Amino acid sequence: MDLTLTDKHRALQAEVQAFIRTHGQDSPKPGGGRKRPDRKTLDWQKLLVEHGYAARSVPHDYGGFGVEPDVLDLAVIADAFSRANLYQGLTNQGISMLVPTLLEVGTEAQRRQWIGPTIRGEVIWCQGYSEPGSGSDLAAASTRAVLDGGDFVVNGQKIWTSSAHYADMMFLLCRTEPDLPKHEGLSYLLLSMRTPGIEVRPLKTMTGRNEFNEVFFTDVRVPAKQIVLGRGKGWYVANITLKHERLMIGDAGKLTHRLEQLITLLQSTSVEGRRLIDMAEFRDRLLKLQGEVLAWRAHNLRLLTEAAKGEESGVKRMVVKYGGTMLGFRLSSLAVDALGAAGLAFESLGEAAEDDDATTWNIDYMYDVGLMIGGGSNNIQKNIIGERGLGLPREPKTPSSAAIGRG
Ligand SMILES: Cc1cc2nc3c(=O)[nH]c(=O)nc-3n(C[C@H](O)[C@H](O)[C@H](O)COP(=O)(O)OP(=O)(O)OC[C@H]3O[C@@H](n4cnc5c(N)ncnc54)[C@H](O)[C@@H]3O)c2cc1C
Repeated sequence: MDLTLTDKHRALQAEVQAFIRTHGQDSPKPGGGRKRPDRKTLDWQKLLVEHGYAARSVPHDYGGFGVEPDVLDLAVIADAFSRANLYQGLTNQGISMLVPTLLEVGTEAQRRQWIGPTIRGEVIWCQGYSEPGSGSDLAAASTRAVLDGGDFVVNGQKIWTSSAHYADMMFLLCRTEPDLPKHEGLSYLLLSMRTPGIEVRPLKTMTGRNEFNEVFFTDVRVPAKQIVLGRGKGWYVANITLKHERLMIGDAGKLTHRLEQLITLLQSTSVEGRRLIDMAEFRDRLLKLQGEVLAWRAHNLRLLTEAAKGEESGVKRMVVKYGGTMLGFRLSSLAVDALGAAGLAFESLGEAAEDDDATTWNIDYMYDVGLMIGGGSNNIQKNIIGERGLGLPREPKTPSSAAIGRG
């Protein structure tokens, strides 16, 4: 990985800085991402896509900017936006998980229909994987889809479905071949959340907000052409999506932004006239975290470089979700400690809380606990790292622990 900026990258740096001077005042506040994007965010996202600061390597034919992936381009853009404290664009399950899946295994028609509106933030997706009886043991999913004429007819239930209460579309893992072994009997369907027969019941998390939902399907008809890759290929497709989900959850860009917020918090908070950042206890913890976030960024760049070269990163990729969520939790833990009593005195402000800076550390702290579970729990990640990454002996299988691990 060569991190030297060439003339091309310096030109890009100048171009991004000019963009920021012209348009920077139109940026929404960084952060957010847990609600449907508002008009201001959609306009900003459109601008970013047009200039190639979002969806940079998504082919032009599908609505992206269409340039060859270049890890330093991404670093230059992220760095300039971060220094200017600007919103770096939407990350959600559609953009970060479904789009790369369709690029890899979608049909030409599926790519043309869905990628453009998704990267612009106009179409919001949710992920219909987990069920009450199959979270870690995802391959045991039992929501059924039976072919009837030109449609699959779906019956069953999903749970913990983030964003389903405002999503337009779902990518659904369901059982179409009940007679085949569990991994071979699944299919991956794209369906509109407005299809008759879908009922969404919100679930509140300990943050006090509706983060996820139960989704019930009663005779929901999905056109057969909305299957991705084909019948019985759902486990393969679902794992492509999971790979991208884990990279999104452990992303170093978000951690860098939060580290900067944490430094500001420690600089601006004083006890008996002394700034927290000048106290050994806080400074030591901050410096350790700062070192780890920098290392995490370098790791991320290495993964991006390998991906751009078409190389498989193996165990280096498998550690991202586990490492990124643990680091995120330690960042918010330090912030909550620094806030003292205010860090503990959480009062749910419901959906409004996200927009109030003073309250977000408490919420992030609680949300970070959830991220250790979402996308496949960190216990399962450790199994994957150990067994598939490091070649350690596999977990013994008993009837009650038949979970093969989400991913
Ligand atoms: C914030 C958040 C957002 C989410 N969003 C979505 C979403 O949008 N769509 C979706 O489909 N799902 C979503 N989920 C669900 C998530 O993927 C599951 O919660 C997760 O896969 C764990 O499944 P489970 O809850 O059924 O727990 P279980 O599988 O019942 O596991 C319970 C506990 O046992 C441990 N465990 C289980 N098997 C093993 C094993 N073999 N070895 C070691 N430990 C084991 C787990 O680590 C966990 O601690 C979300 C979850 C959270 C917290």
